[in-house]
Amino acid sequence: MKNLLSLIFLVLISGPCFGQDRGGSMTAFDVVEQIKANLTCSWADQTVDTFKAGDPEGEVTGVACTFMATVEVLKKAAELGCNLVITHEPTYYNHFDNKDLLEGDPVYAAKQAIIDENKLVVFRFHDHWHRTTPDGIYVGMVDRLQWDSYLVEGEKNIFDFSGYKLLDVTTHMKQLFPDAIIRVIGDPMLVVKRAAFSAGAPGSASHIRLLQQEDINLVVIGEAPEWESLAYVRDASQAGLPKAMIILGHAVSEEAGMEYCAQWMASFIDEVPVQFIESGDPFHQ
Ligand SMILES: [Zn+2]
Repeated sequence: MKNLLSLIFLVLISGPCFGQDRGGSMTAFDVVEQIKANLTCSWADQTVDTFKAGDPEGEVTGVACTFMATVEVLKKAAELGCNLVITHEPTYYNHFDNKDLLEGDPVYAAKQAIIDENKLVVFRFHDHWHRTTPDGIYVGMVDRLQWDSYLVEGEKNIFDFSGYKLLDVTTHMKQLFPDAIIRVIGDPMLVVKRAAFSAGAPGSASHIRLLQQEDINLVVIGEAPEWESLAYVRDASQAGLPKAMIILGHAVSEEAGMEYCAQWMASFIDEVPVQFIESGDPFHQ
């Protein structure tokens, strides 16, 4: 009787079935529940942050965080024994991972074969990693850019670069990302006032809004259509209203944020190893 009572007591206090309650085993679903519990924002009903492949109820052997679940990243994850891949960007070439276009497609088939053969589970972690406070991508990127000391108080992405020229900032970028193809619009001798960092692809309107602020004359971006905010910056220069833009490319502008995601997840997941796998810049000369 006493044993039965202790058993009931244990069941009552153990609460939700996270991995630690099952002697160390954890499902992908459990991992995502842990992510949700550690965010500052509530989980949205409409979100791209969903499972994209594999069985969420399967046991997780290790977690790999990455900017993008490319073919090479998936292979590396399998090699490292990480069967849960947490990716910031889509797996199937569009924002909603819609596969309509991919029926009978050989690239899709090749990628899916790696996922299936290695019983990988892929989960996208995009919206909420940006919505949590502070924005996880910006935390990782500001650290990678070594810009902490220039951050304007109360801002997450505005930096005071008074005294630096555009060329100085570009040179620093090229040193930080020696393999990246970094593109610049604007006079290299432009004296920078404040610079805004805009990770990923938030849309040209958000770049233009930043540049419309009197004291911001440089915006460092991930990507945008070349005929939108990029054209705005060129027109500004040509009209004698000098503004500048540094285009890092989407991956370069966000990847360090997913390296930080691995550190963040490792701070609350003890049951399985969590590591970062670089997907890298897709471009070469
Ligand atoms: Zn992002």
